[in-house]
Amino acid sequence: MQTKYDITIIGGGILGTSIAYFLSFIFQSKKILVVEQENNVGFHTSSRNTGKVHAPYLYNPEKKKIFAKAAFLGFEMWETFAHRHDLLFKKDGVIEVSSDEKGTKVLEKYYDWGLKNGLNENDIYFLSGNEIKKNEPEIECKNAIFCNRDGSVDYGSFTNTLMTESKKNGIEFLFESKVKQIDKNGNGWKIKLNNEKMILTDFIINSAGGNSIDIAHEMNIGEKFTDVHFRGEYWKAPKEYHKLTKSSVYSVPDFPDYPFLDPHWIIRVDGTCEIGPNAVPIFSPYGYNKMENIKEFIPKILEMLGSGARKTIFDKQFQELALNEIQSSLSKNAMVERVRKFLPKINPEKFVQKGTAGIRSSVIDSNGKFVPDVILEYDSNSFHILNYNSPGATGALPFSIYLINMMIDKGLISNQMDNDICGEWKFSEIIEKLGI
Ligand SMILES: Cc1cc2nc3c(=O)[nH]c(=O)nc-3n(C[C@H](O)[C@H](O)[C@H](O)COP(=O)(O)OP(=O)(O)OC[C@H]3O[C@@H](n4cnc5c(N)ncnc54)[C@H](O)[C@@H]3O)c2cc1C
Repeated sequence: MQTKYDITIIGGGILGTSIAYFLSFIFQSKKILVVEQENNVGFHTSSRNTGKVHAPYLYNPEKKKIFAKAAFLGFEMWETFAHRHDLLFKKDGVIEVSSDEKGTKVLEKYYDWGLKNGLNENDIYFLSGNEIKKNEPEIECKNAIFCNRDGSVDYGSFTNTLMTESKKNGIEFLFESKVKQIDKNGNGWKIKLNNEKMILTDFIINSAGGNSIDIAHEMNIGEKFTDVHFRGEYWKAPKEYHKLTKSSVYSVPDFPDYPFLDPHWIIRVDGTCEIGPNAVPIFSPYGYNKMENIKEFIPKILEMLGSGARKTIFDKQFQELALNEIQSSLSKNAMVERVRKFLPKINPEKFVQKGTAGIRSSVIDSNGKFVPDVILEYDSNSFHILNYNSPGATGALPFSIYLINMMIDKGLISNQMDNDICGEWKFSEIIEKLGI
């Protein structure tokens, strides 16, 4: 007899595992499975990122209300989770700098958004270049925001702990199992895996990160969207630079409508420092190396030419920005120079080791525009989370509660909850704090 699951989550990244964690409390009697193609959770973007618990000042409180709220709540939820499970959580703050008047105007907007998104005047400060120098003498800038409610963590270990806790509550995890094909099976689904195994399930949650668009398309969902992948590369700073600043330093992005942020100065949770990430266009959500990109080059180009992405690749500004990113991938000096603008002391010669690259998959609509927000698509038996990008790891816990609440509200999954208490939190309290 083949086991049938009530809910199958495709993708054991930080999002899929967070959803599994909360479902494990509220639906104790249901059979729930997480299916993951790799041999562990958090294998891809969820452990290949900057490791910041981002303060919510970057997000427009009107247009990105839930993401901003999730980032705000994410900070206190991860802090609690880390203390409870003995994981590292360093509240080391962040600095965002401007180099000219135009950037300062953006900083003023960020400061205002930060306050609107829940930060208070003891969390976030607007400073002149001279004021920031008193505390951070190596930083050169026109103005800066300093936010102390920002932290450094290792999201890979957080995802692993979420899995351990979910398993204790009966969630099953199936590894080395890539979803290859999904077919209707009565009111549910038949999922075919790479290893010839078959899964029967009533409901699918698609949280497959860089593959989520392909899985949605397989189920005839989200067909007007396509995606483009960008590899974010890092360089490790030598030990002599590890005390150069007390906080990580970001600079105001020149082109916020594109997924090209200037590389940052990063302090990792273990105290080491890196610069990055850039955003190099590549051809696969797993295009860490040349071989994988060569293999996916033709299919991806054909897919792009047949979709809205066609307009994007012929867009002049996109081409210029993409070339700049490719340049900073080919030349270490070009990459370091982008950080030297606000941290002139660093010397490119001293960066000799690459960090771990991570891949961001950004969704493009039929007009060739990058979609700025997460996309949620569903039908009666499936729910799809597409374009779940930064600060996705920061907001993963509260955002999972938001998603589960939405699935219940829309009648997609049962409203018979076994439990309101989920680990350290009450489901209903988080919903209230999210303001939905
Ligand atoms: C360079 C970079 C830096 C970032 N820095 C930060 C940061 O500092 N702070 C922050 O909050 N956010 C950051 N982010 C964003 C954050 O890391 C992501 O939003 C988050 O990790 C996405 O999690 P996920 O679970 O949706 O995706 P993923 O981690 O990609 O997980 C999806 C999973 O699905 C699996 N999967 C895919 N297809 C299949 C299939 N067919 N069958 C079975 N399994 C499948 C994959 O193997 C993968 O494990 C960063 C992102 C990047 C790229």
